[in-house]
Amino acid sequence: MQHVQKIIRSLCERAITERETLTALDQIIGDGDFGVNIERGAVAILAALGELEAPEPTDQLLASLGMTLNGAGCGTCGTLISFGMIAGAARCDDAGAFLEAALARIIQAGHARPGDKTMIDALKPAVAVFQSGGNLECAARAAWQGAEATKDMVGAKGRSLYSGSRAKGIPDPGAYLVAALMDEAVRCGGRNS
Ligand code: ADP
Ligand code: MG
Repeated sequence: MQHVQKIIRSLCERAITERETLTALDQIIGDGDFGVNIERGAVAILAALGELEAPEPTDQLLASLGMTLNGAGCGTCGTLISFGMIAGAARCDDAGAFLEAALARIIQAGHARPGDKTMIDALKPAVAVFQSGGNLECAARAAWQGAEATKDMVGAKGRSLYSGSRAKGIPDPGAYLVAALMDEAVRCGGRNS
C-alpha cells in the first residue's frame, strides 16, 4: 500500500517536472494550458495523499484520487485521465489490467481512435504489450514509440484539430505525458522501494 502511494507521488512529481515541456507542446498544438492543468492535478493529488489519515486499499485510493483529479479542473486530458483512474481502480492488482480498463474508459468517453494524435496513441501500444505478455519496461518503451509516432499524425480530436500543419513534427502533449509517466513507473520499479 505504501509502495503504491510512493509510485503515485513519483508520478505526480514527474508530471510537475514536465510542466514546461507540456506547455511548450500545447502552445503549438492546443491552447497552451496543458502543463499548468497537469501541474494543478498533480498538486491536488499530492495534497490528497498528504491528508490521508490511514492507508487505504489501493482500489479505493485510486478511485478517490481519480475523483480528486476530476474535481481539480485539469482540462480535457486531466478529465479523461481521471475517468481512466476510476475505471482502472477495480483492476489495480495488475498494471496491464489497470491500463486496459483505463484505456477502454478513455476511448468510451473521448471517442478517439488510434492515429488521431492523442494520448491514446501512447496508451494503446503500451496496453498491447501487456496483453501479449510483455512487462512494464517494454510497455513504457512502446508508449515512447507511440508518442514519437504522433509527430507525424494530424490531429483529429480536441484542440489539435485546429492546429493543422503547425503540429507536424510535434508530438501530442497527452501522448508525451503518458510516455513520461510510464517511464517514471519503470524508474519506481527499479528503485524497488
Ligand atoms: P484542453 O485544453 O482542450 O482542455 P488539454 O490541454 O487538457 O485539453 O489536453 C490536451 C490533450 O488531451 C491532448 O494532447 C490529447 O492527448 C488529449 N485529448 C484531447 N481530446 C481527446 C480525446 N477525445 N480522446 C483522448 N485524448 C484526448
Ligand atoms: Mg489545452
